[in-house]
Amino acid sequence: MVVRRISLLGATGSIGLSTLDVVRRHPERFTVHALTANTRADEMAVLCREFRPQVAVMACPEAAKTLAALLADVPDIQVLGGEESLCEVASAPEADTVMAAIVGAAGLSPTLAAVRAGKRVLLANKEALVMSGKLFMDAVAASGAELLPIDSEHNAIFQCMPADKVRDPEGAGITRILLTASGGPFREFSAERLRSVTPAQACAHPNWSMGQKISVDSATLMNKGLELIEACWLFNTTPRNVEVHVHPESIIHSMVEYADGSVLAQMGSPDMRTPIANGLAWPERIDAGVAPLDLFAIGRFHFERPDLVRFPCLRLAAEAFEAGGTAPAVLNAANEVAVAAFLAGDLCFADIPVIIERTLAAIAVEPANSFDIIFARDAEARIRAREQIGLLTV
Ligand code: NAD
Ligand code: MG
Repeated sequence: MVVRRISLLGATGSIGLSTLDVVRRHPERFTVHALTANTRADEMAVLCREFRPQVAVMACPEAAKTLAALLADVPDIQVLGGEESLCEVASAPEADTVMAAIVGAAGLSPTLAAVRAGKRVLLANKEALVMSGKLFMDAVAASGAELLPIDSEHNAIFQCMPADKVRDPEGAGITRILLTASGGPFREFSAERLRSVTPAQACAHPNWSMGQKISVDSATLMNKGLELIEACWLFNTTPRNVEVHVHPESIIHSMVEYADGSVLAQMGSPDMRTPIANGLAWPERIDAGVAPLDLFAIGRFHFERPDLVRFPCLRLAAEAFEAGGTAPAVLNAANEVAVAAFLAGDLCFADIPVIIERTLAAIAVEPANSFDIIFARDAEARIRAREQIGLLTV
């Protein structure tokens, strides 16, 4: 049994808490070097008291002061603030495993720091890979980091592939990846009805309990769009070889088709602790606390094609991947701004893809030669997306 020392980026989030639940079940196997969060010092203090990390980082410096005060009686936990400290704990020699579970572009720098330091990187933060694609994968190859997918679909695909041929689909005899999607809470809504859905409805996912941003992404199908791009980078393929199947039961987490006609699927209850435990313990298998699958209770599986007319985000993501260069970073940034505006009540749900499409049209695609270019286009896309939202709402 390998004892793993973990830095957990995004400890207070949905993936962070699920990770800690798996860690809690295996005290002999896992120790926590660092926990990080953004602003929620109270919740972080509770986690620090239970898991006793050596370091606790709040991205927001003000929140770091609050946390330090809350933990004044626990001097053995060092409390730090700011983005640089996130990168420090992600690359610290005291940790061998980094769970990248910050939401959005904010996760790119710390995730990259973990990659460059050659860690076992458990990738939940799909936006980091979507934004920087080839540069990210090149950094993985250069450092020898062990990149394990935590997104349930990608973890499923990973489990259905020979471990030594994850980046060599041809060599493995793989013909297609069948990426499953729940379809989200509005799968059966008309285009008209989609105009009036609320943030609360969008965040109430039928099968998964997740953070707000990914819940909205699931409802627009942008989550599947981001996952399509993620799959292309992780498994060295193109959108032509990835087919999205809406599977409302969310039991088959994705499938891999082989040249001999075999299709391998990974199934399980929709609970992120399964892929998290798989990544933490890989190649071993450990108890994740997940209820066994009851196929008799589920009874039937259904499959549909995604509707790209009502849910254009999936099309926009595929187009951005094909356009290449900085386009996926622009897509991601525009989506983050549009989703935040929707959650704040400043944008209608059906206008999320409109903002993304207009932002993509406003910014010329450039080769993504450096992380500086990626960050510059990310910043520009946020400005353009906010302008577009302003134009729509006056
Ligand atoms: P969440 O909103 O529940 O949690 C986000 C975490 O990131 C929190 O700990 C928060 O403190 C931290 N954070 C937010 N902004 C930050 C910033 N600017 N700087 C530093 N830290 C910041 O999100 P989540 O649902 O746990 O998702 C996390 C990531 O995992 C996302 O990229 C998401 O797409 C991916 N993911 C989530 C699920 C799921 O079931 N929740 C499934 C697959 C993939
Ligand atoms: Mg997923």
